[in-house]
Amino acid sequence: MYYFNYTNINRCNTDYNNNTIDHYDLVAARYPVKLTDYYASLVTSADDAIGKQCLPDIRELEDEEQKSDPLSESSLSPVPGLIHRYPDRVVLLVSNRCPVYCRFCMRKRHVGSGEVPMTKEILDTALRYIQEHPAIHDVILSGGDPLMLADASLATILDGIRAIPHVAIIRIGTRVPVTFPERITGDLADLLKRYHPLYINTHFNHPDEITAASRRACNLLADAGIPLGNQTVLLKGVNDSVEIMRRLMAGLLAIRVKPYYLHQMDLVKGTAHFRTSVLTGLKIIAGLRGHNSGLAVPHYVIDLPGGKGKVALLPDDVRFDGNLLTIRTYTGEWVQYGDIIDPQE
Ligand SMILES: *Cc1c(COP(=O)(O)O)cnc(C)c1O
Repeated sequence: MYYFNYTNINRCNTDYNNNTIDHYDLVAARYPVKLTDYYASLVTSADDAIGKQCLPDIRELEDEEQKSDPLSESSLSPVPGLIHRYPDRVVLLVSNRCPVYCRFCMRKRHVGSGEVPMTKEILDTALRYIQEHPAIHDVILSGGDPLMLADASLATILDGIRAIPHVAIIRIGTRVPVTFPERITGDLADLLKRYHPLYINTHFNHPDEITAASRRACNLLADAGIPLGNQTVLLKGVNDSVEIMRRLMAGLLAIRVKPYYLHQMDLVKGTAHFRTSVLTGLKIIAGLRGHNSGLAVPHYVIDLPGGKGKVALLPDDVRFDGNLLTIRTYTGEWVQYGDIIDPQE
């Protein structure tokens, strides 16, 4: 793994969006840039679906409108390193490092910065908070990427969480299977399976990321009994078409990864050039639903600004006329459905 170096991008088309080597330096001075050899090997030109996700773009510096923390995560943080927005689950930010810094990152303000990683004091305080809140049943490790931690540090955190009886499930959000698949080892899978029920949500955005290496990584985790989900971000010029999304979702199912969320871009400063309209997202869902296996259809969600939470949007249309519903099918046909009137409601 290495920090951004020019030998890697020299073979790319540096004319993409008027980016030059100087622009790369300017952007990298503000937002960290890092690639793995593996992920860089998937880039065939700077403006392909992989290049756009990982190579700096001058437009990151031109985004004046959007805010660095539109989801108000800092104000939902009762103790450092913890985000508590929903009653029964928390996000624990265990690392601010990633193998590759995605240009569209929702935590651009936080990742790769000089901020101290989670210290023992921060971890102990966060664990005490979870301990003191019995309503918390679900702890989501995020960051940065939790799998950037050494196995021993990860085990310390997981032991701490598992010592709290009211925590039912642990989730890990990680892009490591996609960007740094060699980090997924048999030892890591053996470690993680000691903490079941443990779920992993990974983050594939494009069918070209499904390779022999990422398949091997997902296989190791799935063979350890870890249910794998996927969170895709809808990205302009990367995956904003029905055709690409169909291939991505079908490809994920074939490597035992269940599409979970399709995220509308958060309004994070420095990422505005990746934004698509919500109509684009709805058309994509309409192009998946009914046409493909239901397993291949993620929930399309907007994480509303101000920390209001995720809301799922559907392209389906229902008209209500008393207890008679007229519902549009996936082929566009309108079909009537007689509902019951429930006296309890
Ligand atoms: C997304 C998110 C969760 C998890 O939400 P699910 O819908 O349960 O996957 C929890 N806390 C925060 C702050 C989140 O942003």
